[in-house]
Amino acid sequence: MGANNRMWKGDNVSYRSLHEYLVFHNNKPALCVKCQKKPPYDLANISGLYKRDINDYQWLCRRCHMISDGRLSNLVEHNRLRRCSN
Ligand SMILES: [Zn+2]
Repeated sequence: MGANNRMWKGDNVSYRSLHEYLVFHNNKPALCVKCQKKPPYDLANISGLYKRDINDYQWLCRRCHMISDGRLSNLVEHNRLRRCSN
């Protein structure tokens, strides 16, 4: 595989084909790259910009993916605030 392997036809690439491209070019490791404990669940976007850059994605387990997305901390924060207001 060459370094300049560009199969993009334009910027209007759907997220689905982008995801398929990234999965194809990003070899899935045996374990989550972050915690190294669980098998990876999905390719997570690092920058949050969904760039067409393989280096902007990493294989994470479900928990690490949620943490990196900020979903887990948001949930905790949300519950904490609700408890305070009561
Ligand atoms: Zn993990």
